[in-house]
Amino acid sequence: MKYKRILLKLSGEALMGERQYGIDNDRLKEYAVEIKKVVDKGCEVAIVIGGGNIFRGLAGAAKGMDRVQGDYMGMLATVINGMALQGALEDAGIITRLQSAIEMDKVAEPFIKRKAVRHLEKGRVVIFGAGTGNPYFTTDTAATLRAIEIDADVILKGTRVDGIYDSDPEKNADAVKFNSLSFDEVFEKNLKVMDMTAFTLSHENKLPIIVFDMNKEGNLEKLVDGEIIGTLVNV
Ligand code: UDP
Repeated sequence: MKYKRILLKLSGEALMGERQYGIDNDRLKEYAVEIKKVVDKGCEVAIVIGGGNIFRGLAGAAKGMDRVQGDYMGMLATVINGMALQGALEDAGIITRLQSAIEMDKVAEPFIKRKAVRHLEKGRVVIFGAGTGNPYFTTDTAATLRAIEIDADVILKGTRVDGIYDSDPEKNADAVKFNSLSFDEVFEKNLKVMDMTAFTLSHENKLPIIVFDMNKEGNLEKLVDGEIIGTLVNV
């Protein structure tokens, strides 16, 4: 196993499957199966999930809503997604804990770094909900922050494309994929890996990021085993 402790970042949109909104149960089950494969190997898995399938603060602000109010709604959306994923993982036989950056003790533990690490050491999957707990941030930043706090070996950013390209592969058939990039190259080429806050935090803390296709069966396990797929961003 190349990576012993991972932080898996999933976007809220990934949970929609083929739907336009909300959560697709089949997709949740597929993800649970993929995650179980690496948990069974002894890999310690922490997960940050987005909320874009339910609500984004910026989208609310564009329609005249107060941005801070909208951002808190977005954070609550990530808790809903976290609970859904938790249910699917537990159905697959994985022991989990949900920790929230906004306290809500009926459904989640508060985020406590030491407790999170202890859960991981015991083989439990830890899902971090409510992002960073602060408006004006994203769940990419939350993922990076938590990954650094729990001393994860890598952030695995699961997307529906299989890595970072020089242009959008869904719009441009000639787009070229990078197998690996340095942080400086990402800055120079102005590539969109994560938002700037998240990316700068990863860079400053030398935390590698791998962008990969989470919807392809076996990919997560391959990455944990050290196979080179997706795009690695490293020092
Ligand atoms: N959000 C926030 N602070 C955080 C993380 C998230 O305010 O630390 C809000 C923000 O409004 C964001 C929404 O929650 O739009 C959902 O998160 P994100 O857009 O990162 O989800 P994804 O795009 O990964 O589905």
